[in-house]
Amino acid sequence: MEAITAVRGTNDLVYAQAARMLALENTLRGIAHKYGYEEIRTPVFEHTELFTRGIGEDTDIVSKEMFTFQDRGERSLTLRPEGTASMVRAFVEHHLFAERGINKIFYTGAMYRAERPQKGRYREFHQFGVEVIGSPSPLVDAEIILFNLDVFKTLGLSGLTLTINSVGCPKCNPAYLAALRETFKNDLPSLCETCRTRYDKNVLRMLDCKVESCQPILAKAPAFSDHLCDECKPHFETVKQELANAGIQFTVNPRLVRGLDYYTKTAFEISANMLGAQNAVCGGGRYDNLIGVFNNGKSFPAMGSAFGLERILLALGDAETKNTIDVFVVAFKETADKLMPTLSMLRAAGRSANADYNVSSIKSQLKTADKLGAKYTLILGPEEAAAGECMLRNMTDKTEKRVKIADAAGMIV
Ligand code: ATP
Ligand code: MG
Repeated sequence: MEAITAVRGTNDLVYAQAARMLALENTLRGIAHKYGYEEIRTPVFEHTELFTRGIGEDTDIVSKEMFTFQDRGERSLTLRPEGTASMVRAFVEHHLFAERGINKIFYTGAMYRAERPQKGRYREFHQFGVEVIGSPSPLVDAEIILFNLDVFKTLGLSGLTLTINSVGCPKCNPAYLAALRETFKNDLPSLCETCRTRYDKNVLRMLDCKVESCQPILAKAPAFSDHLCDECKPHFETVKQELANAGIQFTVNPRLVRGLDYYTKTAFEISANMLGAQNAVCGGGRYDNLIGVFNNGKSFPAMGSAFGLERILLALGDAETKNTIDVFVVAFKETADKLMPTLSMLRAAGRSANADYNVSSIKSQLKTADKLGAKYTLILGPEEAAAGECMLRNMTDKTEKRVKIADAAGMIV
């Protein structure tokens, strides 16, 4: 029989790897709290329509990357490919706009995209994202970018590039889209099939094309900044000014677009130079018109961003991480009856404790203690145990002390 393995493009996080992911999530949570974000948890699957309407039919995500299935009632459901659509649904469904003017939300969890798996690109991956709903202010855009950079600073990750752009709004979009069509009108035969379809259906999406041979042609795209309206232009200027005031270096890429159709104004991406092809570690943008799609046309200005956690861990490198425990209890056959009470006593005192329940040879138990990263071993020798005592060995400096079993927990630092 063939062995059953994990599904292509998915990862098991074993022991220390899971601990690294948890530590990263905890760091992100801590920083998000500092900026005033509160968590929303939503299900991993949603009605398919949430994504087709919220992300846009012509996007890569909706047109080719979704895991969509029918449930037993023949409803079409989809494993979430990103977090914003679900946050917006929850925002509308729970009338969060009624509670406070500006909602600052964070989320974390698994996302699913049917992409070609490779280093830094998986079919199940994890994102940590933030959304600020209820303010059109460019200060929000700047703060989200600063929050993202703060995260990387805290993590000690350098070698990052921040790229920003403004993709305008429905007022300035038509002129820009017309300019795009004009630029590419004679290039269609040399472009890929997706670009040709997008030229007719959703010309802005062409800029999202990743096909190598299209790149020199797409590089001719006019700059969005030359077509911004009276509202979008000063908005973009303020975002850039706020970043400059904060001493942040950035590049304006006039062709940067985000993978969702509803982005307006600010779009940004941070990439880690050392990651090679899959180098975007986070991205975000403003989406002033998305909420209206789910709220009978009444929109709320909003902006968000998301980190790719696997890529951050890759960028941080394989720093040696080892799980540890406070104490490993070593028992002899004669003292096996003291094992469980000792473990319970240690745990009740707040120490992490483990043991070899098979009560193997002492040598083998000490080896296990080492493997588990025990800071102390508590050895229940028959003679000591008869007197209610044990040997407490500090595994770092290898010193040993005979102590009362009841006092051991207090001596573990
Ligand atoms: P890319 O250009 O690499 O496909 P994206 O624009 O599709 O990224 P977003 O939708 O903005 O990515 O998601 C935010 C972040 O999530 C990305 O910057 C990246 O770090 C991470 N990410 C996206 N897709 C994947 C994936 N398939 N596997 C692992 N991480 C991913
Ligand atoms: Mg992608």
